Amino acid sequence: METNILEILIKKRGGKKLSKSEIEFLIKGYTEGSIPDYQFSALLMAIYFQGMDFEETTHLTKAMLNSGKTLYLSDINKPKIDKHSTGGVGDKVSLILAPLLASCGICVPMISGRSLGHTGGTLDKLESIPGLRTDLSLKEFHNQLKRIGLGIIGQTEEIAPADKKIYALRDVTATVESIPLISASIMSKKLSEDLDGLVLDVKFGNGAFMKDYKEARSLALYMVQIGKRFGVKTVAVLTNMNNPLGQYIGNSLEVMEAIECLKGNCPDDLMEVTFALAEVALKIGRINGGRYLLLKKIKNNEALNKFREMIEYQSGDTKVIDDYKRLPVAKMSVIYPAPENGYIKDIDTFLLGVLGNRLGAGRLKKDDKIDHGCGFRIYKKTGDFVKKGEPLIEIFSDDEDRLQNVLKEMPRVFFITPKRVTKRVLIREIIS
Ligand code: URA
Repeated sequence: METNILEILIKKRGGKKLSKSEIEFLIKGYTEGSIPDYQFSALLMAIYFQGMDFEETTHLTKAMLNSGKTLYLSDINKPKIDKHSTGGVGDKVSLILAPLLASCGICVPMISGRSLGHTGGTLDKLESIPGLRTDLSLKEFHNQLKRIGLGIIGQTEEIAPADKKIYALRDVTATVESIPLISASIMSKKLSEDLDGLVLDVKFGNGAFMKDYKEARSLALYMVQIGKRFGVKTVAVLTNMNNPLGQYIGNSLEVMEAIECLKGNCPDDLMEVTFALAEVALKIGRINGGRYLLLKKIKNNEALNKFREMIEYQSGDTKVIDDYKRLPVAKMSVIYPAPENGYIKDIDTFLLGVLGNRLGAGRLKKDDKIDHGCGFRIYKKTGDFVKKGEPLIEIFSDDEDRLQNVLKEMPRVFFITPKRVTKRVLIREIIS
C-alpha cells in the first residue's frame, strides 16, 4: 500500500499511532526534500499535541539516526563518553565539561545543537569565537578526535541530517516542548557518535522545556530506555532550571564565562552542575579520582589547554582565551536596579530566555542571523538578599531600542519578598 503524507497527518492529528514504515517515510521524505516545510510543520504540531508512545519514539529515533552516517571510533583507545542537556538558560556546561573530561582521558565526540526555543545552543555560543568551524566533515571530526580526544560540531549533511532540518523547523514553529521530539532529537545525534556512555542533563523548572519535575522525569526515562535499547550506557541527571545557570546569558558572554570557569573562577551553581555531570561520566569511563581529579585538571590548566587545542583544530582564534576583547560582546549595556529591599523569591527564567531572543540571541525565522554579542549578566539569584537600588541584572545590546524595550520588561522577571527564601536544590535525582 502506498504511504501518503496527508493520510499520515490526519492519522496523527486524530491521536492514532504511526507505524515504523510511516515514520521512516516521514523522515526520509523530509530529509530528502519531498515533504515540504509546511506539511512537516503540521506533523510536528500534531505530535506536540497528540504525543507518541515509546515504540513510536524509538522508531523515530532510529529513522533519524539512519538518515546519516555514524562515527566508528574503535581506533581510539579511550572511553568514548558524551554529555547532552535538554536545554536551559545560561547553560554553558558543555563548553566547560567537554574539555575537562577530555583532559581526564575521555574521548568526547560531541554533536550539539543551536539555540532552540527560549534556550541557547552550544554551537551558536562556540561560533562567537572568530573563525571557529562547527561544520567539520566526518573525516575531519574523526581525525581531530584521534589526535586530541575532543571535538564539538553540529549536525551536518553527513551526520544526523534529519535532526539538522527538524531541529531548525521546531525552533521556529513552537514545537520544541515535546517528550518524543526532544528524545529523538537528542538520542539520534548521540547514537551516531559510537559512544560507550552518555550523561544527560535533564532540566526541569520555569527555564526548562519541561516545567514540571514529573514530566522531566518521563523525558529522562524515555532517553535512558532508548540508550539501553541501542546498547549505550545512559545516565540522566535531573537538574533545577528555575534560575539561569551561572552569571551570564548570551552567546559570547557565555563563552567568556566558560573560559573563566576553566581558569578556576566559576559561580557555585554552574560548577556544581558541571562537576555532578562530569563525575557520572568518570564513573561510566571507570576513571578514578572523582572531584579531586576534576579540580586538579582545572588547577593545572590541562582542561583550559584542551579547550585551546580544540579551538585551534576547529580554526578558531585561540587568543580569545587571554583577551576577551576579541569576542564580539556588545559595547552598550544598561542596569536594572532592585526596586525595593528584600529576598529574591522567583526569577522568570523562561521570560529571560524569550527576552534574550528579543535582543537577538535566538532566531524568529529559520534563516535569521543571530547577534552573538547581546545578553545578560545576572547579579542576584533566588534566595539572595538585595538592597533597593543594587543591580539585579545588566542587559547588553548595541541596539538602543532593543535595550530599552527589554529593560521595560524586567519588573516581570524578578519577584522580591520581605521574607527569607530558601535556596533550591540543584541536583534532584540521578537515573541510570
Ligand atoms: N537538545 C536537542 O538536541 N534537541 C532537543 O530537542 C532539545 C535539546
